[in-house]
Amino acid sequence: MNIYDMKEECGIFGIYGHPEAANMAYLGLYALQHRGQEGAGICSSDGRNLHLEKSLGYVSEIFNEKRLRRLLGESAIGHNRYSTAGGNAQKNVQPIMVNSSLGSLSIAHNGNLTNAGVLKETLERDGAIFQSNADSEVIVHLIAHSTARTAEEKVIEAVNQIHGAFSLLILKEDELIAVRDSFGVRPMCIGTLDGAYVVASETCAFDLIGATYIRDVEPGEMVVINKNGINSIRAIRSAMRAHCAFEFIYFSRPDSYIFGGTNVHRIRKALGRQLAIESYVDADVVIPVPDSGVAATIGYANQSIIPFDFGLVRNHYIGRTFIEPKQNIRHFGVKIKLNPVQSILRGKRVVVVDDSIVRGTTSKKIVKMLREVGKAAEIHVRISSPCTISPCFYGIDTPTRNELIASTHQVEEIRKYLTADSLSYLSFDGLNSVLPNPDDYCYACFNSKYPISFIREEPAQMELFLA
Ligand code: AMP
Repeated sequence: MNIYDMKEECGIFGIYGHPEAANMAYLGLYALQHRGQEGAGICSSDGRNLHLEKSLGYVSEIFNEKRLRRLLGESAIGHNRYSTAGGNAQKNVQPIMVNSSLGSLSIAHNGNLTNAGVLKETLERDGAIFQSNADSEVIVHLIAHSTARTAEEKVIEAVNQIHGAFSLLILKEDELIAVRDSFGVRPMCIGTLDGAYVVASETCAFDLIGATYIRDVEPGEMVVINKNGINSIRAIRSAMRAHCAFEFIYFSRPDSYIFGGTNVHRIRKALGRQLAIESYVDADVVIPVPDSGVAATIGYANQSIIPFDFGLVRNHYIGRTFIEPKQNIRHFGVKIKLNPVQSILRGKRVVVVDDSIVRGTTSKKIVKMLREVGKAAEIHVRISSPCTISPCFYGIDTPTRNELIASTHQVEEIRKYLTADSLSYLSFDGLNSVLPNPDDYCYACFNSKYPISFIREEPAQMELFLA
């Protein structure tokens, strides 16, 4: 596996100056579990030494009282890792801890670097030995190899060499540093709790521990928190913003306030309203693909004045893997997650709303299930984002361009593949009309305009075959 195989959309949490730092980090990671389920870890500092506990698995599976007791000290950082193709090795779980000329150092990174391969080659030529495949480790080596004098200067030097998306937490024995890339691709916010400072990917982590949101870490900003308080430094020159629009559409939790304090649920509902304005269809009921389609469906139902209902019920207790029976059960893979409610659907003209179509495989199974099991008379698929036509190189795990159904097929071809009676996506202008300051976003997955350059060769692949 080469370094480019790693795609990470993760959750990060940091706290400085709290007597229960590790416990708070544990709770913060619990709230951020949706950002990554492959593995998690916490690194704490007691002022002299760093302590690290990390494993593969869910936060609830990894930590127990014994492990948390070992995480001594009043500051900590934590990380939830996103499940990726071929990358679920223990060695890739973060935080990454190293001993350097600076003393001990630990980092937690959300995002994807676009020049990690080149930097890694250079660092290896200079004698660096990498322990993992994660591009985040490049950042650790850059900091450790820096000849700058202070920790802050070393970090500034390192983050000016990396390109791509990074919301980054760095823990030293005596301070916590938070840095965000100059485009502000991934979210990161600062809060306070009982006089301590907290930093997290999303505000839902603050809600759980009772912390108060202060503001976002600004694009290009480095925030240094130590015994002297909090200090803001402009670490990287920031020319334009490129917040990830997909954080609003799918990734962030609906109760979070991201990118300058805008509520995710509110945006998703507005996307659904806009979708209904653009692609109303006469129907009896509008249902979400739970959970990510729920907010947009409420918006669609409100705008279209078609009754909302839960025509698909989701099983929340599946875990990461399940054993498929040998005997063929129709639609098994999707049925274990979602079950149609016949009493809501039978004989009805149904609008089913989801946030996005990636490969199209889930939507196809859902449509079949709504018709065959739910006995729906008509199925109209509505998607609360534009066609996903290009992969993300900034941290969201998407397949290659040719595996994205909308990159190689027209909407009518996709409708036929899904066997839906109609299919509509939200228009690009519609998405723009809903987002605050729409010029401040990255829409590369919808329009192929990548705001941050990268050197990357997509593996040659056959066009997605629609069976
Ligand atoms: P697909 O069957 O590949 O078209 O998957 C579509 C479903 O995947 C939708 O219900 C989306 O909510 C969900 N989805 C979109 N982006 C992602 C992602 N990056 N990771 C996991 N699921 C996603």
